[in-house]
Amino acid sequence: MAETTEPYHSALASSDEGDTVAVGASIVARGISKIYGQDGPNPFHALGPIDLDVKPGEFVSLIGPSGCGKSTTLLLVSGLEPVSDGVVEVDAKPLTKPISEVGIVFQDHLLLDFRTAIQNVMLQQEIRGLDRAKLLGRAEMLFDRLGIKGSESKYPRQLSGGMRQRVSIARALVHDPSMLLMDEPFGALDAITRTQIRHDLEMLWLETKKTVLFITHSIEEAVGLSDRVLVMSQSPGQIVEEIKIDLPRPRPAHLGEYPEFSKYAERIYRIFSKLGVYKF
Ligand code: ADP
Repeated sequence: MAETTEPYHSALASSDEGDTVAVGASIVARGISKIYGQDGPNPFHALGPIDLDVKPGEFVSLIGPSGCGKSTTLLLVSGLEPVSDGVVEVDAKPLTKPISEVGIVFQDHLLLDFRTAIQNVMLQQEIRGLDRAKLLGRAEMLFDRLGIKGSESKYPRQLSGGMRQRVSIARALVHDPSMLLMDEPFGALDAITRTQIRHDLEMLWLETKKTVLFITHSIEEAVGLSDRVLVMSQSPGQIVEEIKIDLPRPRPAHLGEYPEFSKYAERIYRIFSKLGVYKF
């Protein structure tokens, strides 16, 4: 990853209003729940009720057992799925439809295989009808920051799994959204790649200060990346504990350097054991 320099900082953090820093959005959810197929013969209570209070520029992870409703939470917060109950507010405005000021990264990179890396990223510009020169400049900087500079004209099949996920992150951020929603983005990557990409994401977040809601199964990833970790119970998931992660940034590759890291990790293991998620 290239060293952070002031001009890059300004360019990556600027909004449409010239050099104004595009601060991250606040995300508030009050008593949200989701019942899939609510009006059908087989309604399924998948989530909640839960409350969320994510501050502008904060990095918050949701961790919980498979099927507890983490992805559902992300869909409700983005407006892609309607809530069955409760309310979501982004920047203090109630969410009534999918928001555009968002970048989403899924576990599957979802890149179009007939488009090059840069063409995949610039899809955002084409769909949203944004200024091409400006977004190209931003895309170039994101490629640099994400360590994929030089791969712009490669097709997804020519890239490693880690590089494809880096392209997905660039695509999610190229239009300068105020929040980034990430659903197990590194779940399919090997451990070494995960550690590196975790660091690169942290550096990019430190530079841009987008609000991030990050879903993971990995205790190490949640503690390694977050300001706060929200621990969820089994389906229908509720938030059973909030853990503030008070570790200096940027955090090292080997998180075990911090004795506090083990304490945070142990606390999460204990919660899952108590909930019966682990049956040891
Ligand atoms: P997680 O991300 O924690 O693994 P999900 O939010 O994906 O959990 O799913 C929570 C539960 O809701 C699961 O049991 C899943 O099968 C169910 N579910 C998810 N999407 C739908 C849907 N569209 N219709 C019905 N059930 C769904």
